[in-house]
Amino acid sequence: MAQKNKEQTRWKMNIKRGDVVQVISGSALWRGKRGRVLQVLPKENRLIVEGINLVWKHQRPMGRVMQGGRIQKPAPIHRSKVMLVCPHCDKPTRVKMRFLEDGRKVRTCKRCGEIMDAL
Ligand SMILES: [Zn+2]
Repeated sequence: MAQKNKEQTRWKMNIKRGDVVQVISGSALWRGKRGRVLQVLPKENRLIVEGINLVWKHQRPMGRVMQGGRIQKPAPIHRSKVMLVCPHCDKPTRVKMRFLEDGRKVRTCKRCGEIMDAL
């Protein structure tokens, strides 16, 4: 039980909205694909990623503007199935947290060591 909690803490908030992630497991349809994170759902440990895990949804007609019908929308994907893509080395990577001299906490790439956050 204690082990499980430790694991959850380690995962906490490594991925933010606007990050580019790559699908590393799950359906072959999406594996290897990349997309930008549109929304983080921390309670569910899931992310909504642009263009990934698309499902058809039925759309109700809204006023005169929108036609009813089927539209494609990204469904939430579990964050263990994706990895953050480092903007410097362009590879899916693990994240190492680092503190700057001014006390700010930043994410660094475990592969190339570069800071992944916009400063
Ligand atoms: Zn890197």
